[in-house]
This record gives sequence, C-alpha cells and structure tokens, in this order.
Amino acid sequence: MTRPRPVIAIDGPAGVGKSTTARVLAQRLGYTLVDTGALYRGVALAARDRGISWDDEAGVVAIGDETELAFASQHDGTPRLLLNGEERADEIRTPELSAGASQVSAYPGVRRVLLDIQRDLGREGGVVLEGRDIGTVVFPDAEVKVFLTASAEERARRRVQDLRDRGTMADYDEILAKIRSRDEADSTRAIAPLRPAEDAVILDSTSLGLEAVVQHVLELVQSCN
Ligand code: C5P
Repeated sequence: MTRPRPVIAIDGPAGVGKSTTARVLAQRLGYTLVDTGALYRGVALAARDRGISWDDEAGVVAIGDETELAFASQHDGTPRLLLNGEERADEIRTPELSAGASQVSAYPGVRRVLLDIQRDLGREGGVVLEGRDIGTVVFPDAEVKVFLTASAEERARRRVQDLRDRGTMADYDEILAKIRSRDEADSTRAIAPLRPAEDAVILDSTSLGLEAVVQHVLELVQSCN
C-alpha cells in the first residue's frame, strides 16, 4: 500500500527527547502527532480508576478492551489524551503512572488492543508516532524510522533540569535509578521489546542536539518523497 504522505516512527528509551523532537517535526511538517506512550499510561490510569491492581493481568487487559482511548489536539498540536471522552492528559504524567504504564505495557492483551488504535491513527500517513516499537511492530513499513539514543546519565540530567524548571525538586540519583529500571523493563520484556528496527537510522541526541536531529529527520522525509 502506498500512502500519499509518510509515516514517521520515532522510537527510543525514556527521556531521550522523543516527545520534543516529534512535536517539532509534526509542527514543521503539518503532520498529526501521536504520543503512543500516553495510550499505555491511559490503560494504567483506567485500571487505577476502577481499583484494579496493575499486577492483575486479566483485569488490566479487560479494562484496556473496554476503555475508549483517543486524542484531542491542543492549539499547538500537542495531543491530549481522552479516556472515555474525558480529558485526562495531565494526570498521566506522574512518576507513578510512568511505572504503571511500563508494567501494563508488558501484557500481550494490552499491546494487542493498543496496536489496533495506533495503526488506525497512522493509517493515512502524514503522521509522526513516537514510542518504543513503532518501527519494529506498529508500522514496520514506516517510510521514515528513527531510533533516538542518549546515555542514561544525560537523560537523567535533562529530566532533573526539566523538573527544576517547573519548580519541582528532583534528586538526580533517584531519577537515574528510575530511568535505568524502566530501560531494563522495556528492553527485556518478551513482547515488542525496546530495540531499534534493522532499517532505523540511529541518532544520538546527546551529541547532536534537538535542531540537528530535527534537520536530519526532515532530510529523511525529503528523500522519501
Ligand atoms: O513514552 P512514555 O514514557 O510515555 O511511555 C510510558 C511507557 O509505556 C514506557 O515506559 C513503555 O513501557 C510503554 N510504551 C510501550 N510502547 C510504546 C510506548 C510506550 O511499551 N510504543
């Protein structure tokens, strides 16, 4: 199937700059932005709403099946998660929900439900999807595949800075430990583990910086037209 406009897959570990990169790309290209991590966070939140423990695989999968997950777009193009029609975008951004999302994302039943949603959102092309397995599983035929990397230390340093900029106290060692444990869980799970697709372009966001990464991806988009 040929799409009139490409699907751009931006994968990589937590805190590597995927969201910012994907948002800037979507703005410059006039494409839709899909934050796939928000869907996993949404399932974790829906389970918590219903008092279902994240350890309860069957319960979490059932909730994933019956929850309606969608996005509303903010004026700047940032997708805002809608859970059963209600905006819950801010509630999913806590460290607790990060851990919950990571836990529920290892359940095959959850991944199956979210796979269909993600494919529907990207079907027409003209879309930037950011996540962990977009280039490997969700859109193995994506026209542009990028895997962003940066050391865990650099990612922790950025996260601390980001939190401090927002007036929140943050402990570097604690954040580094959390990043390492989420990397470990995401890369070693049996289903759709975090890894670059064989045909992904690997970009190190530490040495390149945001604008250089964006330019690189824009060149890849140009070359597939
Ligand atoms: O990107 P974000 O930090 O919001 O993702 C939260 C969690 O959701 C990740 O740690 C990962 O476990 C899971 N996830 C995933 N596949 C994706 C996106 C996110 O497994 N495509």
